[in-house]
Amino acid sequence: QVVLCWLRRDLRLDDNAALYHALKSGYPVVPVFVFDTNILDELEDKQDRRVNFIYQALEALNATLARRGATLEAYHGTPMNAFKHWLHQYDVQGVFTNHDYEPYAKERDKSVGALLKESGVSFHTYKDQVIFEKDEVLKDNGEPYTIFTPYSRRWSDTLTAFHLKPYPVEKYLANLYRQPAINLPALEQLGFKKNGEHFPPALLNEALIRHYSETRDTPGIEGTSKLGVHLRFGTISIRKLMKQALEWSDTFAKELVWREFYQMILYHFPRVVSESFKREYDKIPWRNNEKEFERWCNGTTGYPIVDAGMRELNATGFMHNRLRMITASFLTKHLLIDWRWGEAYFAGKLLDYDLAANNGGWQWAAGSGCDAVPYFRVFNPSLQTQKFDKDLKYTRKWVPELDSFDYPVPIVSHEEARKRALEVYSNALRQR
Ligand code: FAD
Repeated sequence: QVVLCWLRRDLRLDDNAALYHALKSGYPVVPVFVFDTNILDELEDKQDRRVNFIYQALEALNATLARRGATLEAYHGTPMNAFKHWLHQYDVQGVFTNHDYEPYAKERDKSVGALLKESGVSFHTYKDQVIFEKDEVLKDNGEPYTIFTPYSRRWSDTLTAFHLKPYPVEKYLANLYRQPAINLPALEQLGFKKNGEHFPPALLNEALIRHYSETRDTPGIEGTSKLGVHLRFGTISIRKLMKQALEWSDTFAKELVWREFYQMILYHFPRVVSESFKREYDKIPWRNNEKEFERWCNGTTGYPIVDAGMRELNATGFMHNRLRMITASFLTKHLLIDWRWGEAYFAGKLLDYDLAANNGGWQWAAGSGCDAVPYFRVFNPSLQTQKFDKDLKYTRKWVPELDSFDYPVPIVSHEEARKRALEVYSNALRQR
C-alpha cells in the first residue's frame, strides 16, 4: 500500500505542501510525474527550452531521491492513462497534489479526480505555488479584486508569519517508498532533443534583491532575479522567496504580489484566456497586418529598442520586463495588432512563460486588462530609450548594426501611429 505524490509545477522536495502531507499520511510515498502528451504534442520546437528545463529539474530530483533509496515514477502519455497505469501497478491508497489554477489544469484535475473516486482512491490537493489563492484575498463585499493596488493592500493586511512558514518535508523523507532507481524516459523518447542549455539554479542573490528598486528598470545591467522560470516550475518555494523578499526589498516583494494578483484573476475570470477583460476592447478593429507582425517578431521594425527586445527574446528565451512592456505596447498600439497574437508569440518563446502573468501583461499593455491603465497611454520608444537605456548599452548589444545602412527605416512614424491608435481605440470604445 502506497500513496502517490503527483508533481507538476512544484518540481522540488523542500517546502512542498503536497509532498509534506503525503509523507505524513502514514503510507510510503511514491513521487510521480506525467510527461503530458496533451501539452507536449502541441509544442513545435523539438528543442523546447521549457521541456529541457523540466527535464533537467526532474533528473536532479530523481538523483536526490535515489540517494535516499527512492525514485520518481515518470509516465509519458495522458494523465488519465498515467493514473490507470499506476492504479494497476501499485496498491494506491491516495493521491496528493498541489493546486494549479490554469483552465486546462483544472479540467485535467477534475477528470483525474473522477477516475480516482471511481476507484475508491482519495484525492488530496493543496495550495503551494502562491501565498494566497482563490478566495483568500477578497473585497469586503466578497468579490474578487480587479485592481492591483487595493488588492496588494489587502494582501499585506492578510499576511501573517504563518503564511510564510515552510513545510518541513526533510523531517519525513524516510517515509518515501523505497525501491531501486528508475531512469526517466530519454528526451528523444518523448520526441524532444537536448538543446545543450545550462539553466542557472534558483539561488537567491541577496545583493541583487537588496538593490532591485534601483536596478530593475535598466535592461543594460543584470538587475532582475531571472527567477521567473523557477517560480513557474516550482524549483523554488514561494514561501521562502517571499520571506526573504519582504526582508530585503519591498519593491521586489511587490512584484511577487503582482504574480499572485494575475493568478487570482485567471482563477476568477478564466475567460481572459480568450477575451479582453474589459469586454468592449474586443470591438477594436485590429489591423492585424501579417507582414508587420513578422517584422515585429523578427526585430526589424526600425525602432531599435523594440527590435532589441524582440531579438533578446528570440535568442535567449528571456526578455527584460521593461522591454516586454515596450514591445507589447508597440504591437498593440503602433501596429494595431491584436494582443492575442503577441501573447501567443511570447508563449511560444519565453522560458518563464506563465499563462496568468503573460495574459495579464499583454492585456495591461493593450489597455484591455484589469487595473486602471488608460488606453491612451502609448509608449514612445525614443523616450523609453532615453529613460531606461540612455547609453544604448542594451540596444547596441542586440542591434549592433544600429548606425549602419543595413538597419531598416521605421515601420511607421511614431506620431502618426500614436494618432491612429488613439482614434481607433476611442471610436471602438465609444460605440457601446
Ligand atoms: P524579477 O523582476 O526579478 O521579478 C521576480 C519575479 O516576480 C518574477 O520572476 C515573476 O515571477 C514576478 N513578477 C515580476 N513582475 C511581474 C509582473 N508584472 N507580473 C507578474 N509577475 C511578475 N512573467 C512571467 O513570469 N511569465 C510570463 O509569461 C510573463 N509575460 C509577460 C508579458 C508581458 C507583455 C509583460 C509586460 C510582462 C510579463 N511578465 C511575465 C512579467 C515580467 O515581465 C516577468 O515576470 C519578469 O520580467 C521576469 O524576469 P525576472 O524573473 O528577472 O523578474
